[in-house]
Amino acid sequence: MTTVEAPASHLRENPYELAKEQLVKVAASMGLEDSLVDVLCACKKAVAVAIPTRMDDGSVEVFEGFRVTHNIARGPSKGGIRYHPDVTLDEVRALSMWMTWKCALMGIPFGGAKGGVVCDPKRLSLRELERMTRRYTTEIINEIGPERDIPAPDVGTNASVMAWIFDTYSMNKGHSVLGVVTGKPLALGGSLGREEATARGALYCVRAALRKQQLELAGARVAVQGFGNVGSYLARFLGEDGATVVALSDSSGGIYNPKGIDVAAAFARKRETGALVGLRGAEAVSNEELLMLDCDVLAPCALEQVLHAGNAGGVKAKIVCEGANGPTTPAADEILEDAGILVLPDILANAGGVVVSYFEWVQGLQEYFWKESEVNAKLNDIVTRAFNETWDAHERRETSMRLAAYGLAVERVAEATTIRGLYP
Ligand code: GLU
Repeated sequence: MTTVEAPASHLRENPYELAKEQLVKVAASMGLEDSLVDVLCACKKAVAVAIPTRMDDGSVEVFEGFRVTHNIARGPSKGGIRYHPDVTLDEVRALSMWMTWKCALMGIPFGGAKGGVVCDPKRLSLRELERMTRRYTTEIINEIGPERDIPAPDVGTNASVMAWIFDTYSMNKGHSVLGVVTGKPLALGGSLGREEATARGALYCVRAALRKQQLELAGARVAVQGFGNVGSYLARFLGEDGATVVALSDSSGGIYNPKGIDVAAAFARKRETGALVGLRGAEAVSNEELLMLDCDVLAPCALEQVLHAGNAGGVKAKIVCEGANGPTTPAADEILEDAGILVLPDILANAGGVVVSYFEWVQGLQEYFWKESEVNAKLNDIVTRAFNETWDAHERRETSMRLAAYGLAVERVAEATTIRGLYP
């Protein structure tokens, strides 16, 4: 008999411990009171649920799911739901904390939350995915709501999953509740521009960062790791803006062409075969090799901890744009900083998604929908303002962009927490 070994998790270190480590470092640089640091290190609420699901063959599989709210000092909690085999409660805790900082840095009135289900969505049929999602939604139905906690897509989930969450919640309430979830399909009150929003926000950050370094996007060589919602649109936008996309990858491997990859052909290849590898005119590279390529901009847009102490020294890019959440460990961060590489931190670089989620929530509450040009212009305003505020703090305080961004975000959440006071 052969046993199939489960692949090792992508999480080398406990992400919640790393998230707390980042917070403690920022708090120390700001002189934040210890008791406040303790409050901000903790997650307000974490629920773990069992999700018994009828499979297509009649059997029942019990999945494990989580929903964590980190903080609601600045508004209802907001954050995506991840479907991935490596999901752990501590990963969801870390991701929920990063959402708090991201919303605060953007100046949008939300706290942070995240959800996750331990599953491999690629191995579930559409009907299994629907039944699992509806049961998960039912299990967390008292936690979510338009004034309470608003989910959205993340790794492994998409607009269809959001439609099932919206429908399950609405059926239980007896009427349609548009504001309960964002990233919905357009036909159900989604926002124009939401699908591309995370990549668009990252594009605005890359453009601004290049400008600060007297560089141009036209002709810049970029490598994008991950071809999900963020990586695929970012590669397309960068290519359309004249950058040379030298490498792309998905979970099954990468492709490389120093003269530039035809991004439209890569989209077609992915659609037809389910993978990028094998695209004509490009040589195969591993995900690890892609991170070490000679390029101007490296955009890790897949999972956490891909840049760590063991490989960060080999990064040759001038700018790292964090399309993923937590792709750089604190140890890697120091190595990149010492090497003079400009890191655009996740809470800035990938915040475009939650910003347009905010717009979708507002449009749903008002039942009044905006033009795409209006959505994109408002997105540009918010992301560019946050970029400039972060850049100014980075220069003024002579710290990395990450410490500057976290400093601004933590300051805002700390202020709201202090002004609200401790209940009772
Ligand atoms: N999952 C996305 C993120 O990590 C979007 C969250 C949202 O729109 O609420 O930012």
